[in-house]
Amino acid sequence: HGNARIISIFNQKGGVGKTTTTINLGAALAELGRRVLLVDFDPQGGLSLGLGVNAHSLPLENTVYHALMDPSADIQQIVLKSSVAGLDFLPASRDLGAAESKLPSEIGGQQFLKRALSTLKDDYDIILIDCQPTMGQLTVNALVASHEVIVPLQCEYFALEGLGKLLNTIKSIQKIHNPELDIEGLLLTMYDSRLRLSNQVVEEVQKHFNDMVFETIIQRNVKLSEAPSFGESIINYDATSKGATNYLHLAQEIIKKNSK
Ligand code: ADP
Ligand code: MG
Repeated sequence: HGNARIISIFNQKGGVGKTTTTINLGAALAELGRRVLLVDFDPQGGLSLGLGVNAHSLPLENTVYHALMDPSADIQQIVLKSSVAGLDFLPASRDLGAAESKLPSEIGGQQFLKRALSTLKDDYDIILIDCQPTMGQLTVNALVASHEVIVPLQCEYFALEGLGKLLNTIKSIQKIHNPELDIEGLLLTMYDSRLRLSNQVVEEVQKHFNDMVFETIIQRNVKLSEAPSFGESIINYDATSKGATNYLHLAQEIIKKNSK
């Protein structure tokens, strides 16, 4: 125990399943006995909302922005418990967006999230960071703080669009800030076996990226889109759904991968 592995969930495209993956992979890992912290690192606050907290109405001091920008912040005070045992999170509100313009003028600004999380590392086995869909200062902070990146790819037209740029960004972060940074895997999401296109995307991605692609494929499942409006993970909302099965499978794959 202790010394959490930190994983960013990132793709600069919106709507590909980043937030859904962060919440439900986190809940699945907690279900398997891991102590998990989720970081809402998107000013839209979608992860917080999906766990039942409207962070936009929280005082600024109780959001991840404070932990990020103020080295003297007591981050333990900002952590919230979710309704899943072993699953905690740091909420984000719109104010986090202000960090984009403030970070560049701060010395060591790219390391701020890393510094903030270092005080929590012994309390968790895994920390998942839900990134916003842009390659700005916040995302750089997330990648600098991380050991690995999971890249969700929607089984849709242009799934691979922007992926080359993303891989280059990861390379330059490796070079400048974080040589340890690694791609944990590409995760195919919203797969619909009835659609030819969905199958074509899976084939194409597997052909080009082979063992970089997770074996687990997340199917399209309406329960996954319903759960957040109840402030619940899929594990609580419907443990027997395809969505719950898929994310538990992914959690097992990740645990196995990292015990090697
Ligand atoms: P991102 O964080 O990348 O913008 P989200 O996780 O918010 O993407 O997902 C975008 C939308 O798609 C949301 O409405 C979400 O509920 C829905 N969604 C995500 N994954 C699935 C899935 N496997 N099946 C059905 N709906 C999904
Ligand atoms: Mg999101």
